[in-house]
Amino acid sequence: MNLKDPSLFRQAALVGENWIEADPQNAIDVNNPATGEIIGRVPKLGAVETRAAIETAARVQKEWAARTAKERAGILRRWFELMIENKDDLGQILTIEQGKPLAEATGEIVYGASFIEWFAEEGRRVYGDLVPGHQKDKRILVMKQPIGVVAAITPWNFPNAMITRKAGPAFAAGCAMVLKPAAQTPFSAIAIAVLAERAGMPKGLFSVITGSAREIGAEMTSNPTVRKLTFTGSTEVGAELYRQSAATIKKLGLELGGNAPFIVFDDADLDAAVEGALIAKFRNNGQTCVCANRLYVQDGVYEAFSEKLAAAVAKLKTGNGMEEGIILGPLIDKAAIDKVEEHVADAVSKGARVIQGGQRHALGGTFYEATVLADVTQAMAVAREETFGPVAPLFRFKDEADVIHQANDTEFGLASYFYAKDLARVFRVAEALEYGMVGVNTGLISTAEAPFGGVKLSGLGREGSKYGIEEFMEIKYVCLGGI
Ligand code: ADP
Repeated sequence: MNLKDPSLFRQAALVGENWIEADPQNAIDVNNPATGEIIGRVPKLGAVETRAAIETAARVQKEWAARTAKERAGILRRWFELMIENKDDLGQILTIEQGKPLAEATGEIVYGASFIEWFAEEGRRVYGDLVPGHQKDKRILVMKQPIGVVAAITPWNFPNAMITRKAGPAFAAGCAMVLKPAAQTPFSAIAIAVLAERAGMPKGLFSVITGSAREIGAEMTSNPTVRKLTFTGSTEVGAELYRQSAATIKKLGLELGGNAPFIVFDDADLDAAVEGALIAKFRNNGQTCVCANRLYVQDGVYEAFSEKLAAAVAKLKTGNGMEEGIILGPLIDKAAIDKVEEHVADAVSKGARVIQGGQRHALGGTFYEATVLADVTQAMAVAREETFGPVAPLFRFKDEADVIHQANDTEFGLASYFYAKDLARVFRVAEALEYGMVGVNTGLISTAEAPFGGVKLSGLGREGSKYGIEEFMEIKYVCLGGI
């Protein structure tokens, strides 16, 4: 790394008002997935520190909520600007701990910062209602108030943006936040906490706790002071946190796994569909919850689309994300590459054809070749589970009813995509897909302005958009009588 501001790379956690430096005797090592080298360490904290952070958060939140929305917006705006000013450094920190290529990492910083910008603006537009009364002497007032202390648990695939999507609306609404970032990627979280302090955020409003996921999660879910838990990660862990939160009846925001279909109809613009598939499938090396997991291609264009896609995929350069021209980095860890390998082996054993890639990359480590599989069927593991790697499995379908049935035949419901030109078909298919999000003739749908979220086992609630801030507020009804 070659940081302009080395103080952004801090090997410490932020517990309430205090930074706790990593003690070599009790720390977690963080690796660079491209090289396997240890890049630093963070403190191994647990329930005690989490509880302390929650107590401080509860105190500071009251003062924060009492400020005007404009005042909060000013601090968030400054935080956004600092992220943009430091995007190159934040991008490097992200690449070195997560692996995605530098240009993509810097792109994530800009994307992540856009949520702080958006919610700084939205915070000033949290309107209540004045409802006509049900009796002559009554008036009905509806106000929105911050929910209070929020706990957040975030994954490694977007070490910046998955935090800002939660922190932006939480702080704009007047909440405090105690965050546990993923163990693989704590430094991006810590860097934005350094910038939050510089932006003038009150001390103790934002804590970043590193350490035992189980212990920190148990405290977050059982502590009655925490009124909302917002989590992005696997459905399995999300369900566990949901169970753990039951006793204290917390409000839950869950962004869980997906199994996105990507459908190419006969009338699609094939070149555009290939371009969309590259983004939807291979962004972050296939490691996003909105990544296309199943590509359904209609009979009439199946051969042409597979050839074009395989040719385009062959040009994607794999390597260390710090190097120039790299499009695909390493996978996050050994378990990730093992899963990709298993999915490809399972598909091939059941009759799939490898038309591009198909094995571990010559670079070794956790690098895997960008892969395209043809003749994939619903009987293969890739049809049911998220592969979370650079593998595009191509299914064949006959007609609209057939593909809608196959696309919806999953317990997940996060993102979906399709390419078609016929307007009536566009509406029919968009309405029939049982997903929280549908991309029509595009492979890239996430933005601060739009509501991101899933149905079925993909989660609860929405992030981003005008709806995102509501998740961090409670509605209070005031009945005014004697008027
Ligand atoms: P992924 O497959 O993306 O690693 P996980 O759901 O395992 O998804 O992890 C997402 C986040 O949840 C990470 O921050 C991880 O440390 C955290 N986590 C994992 N298990 C638990 C748990 N039992 N309690 C609380 N947090 C957990």
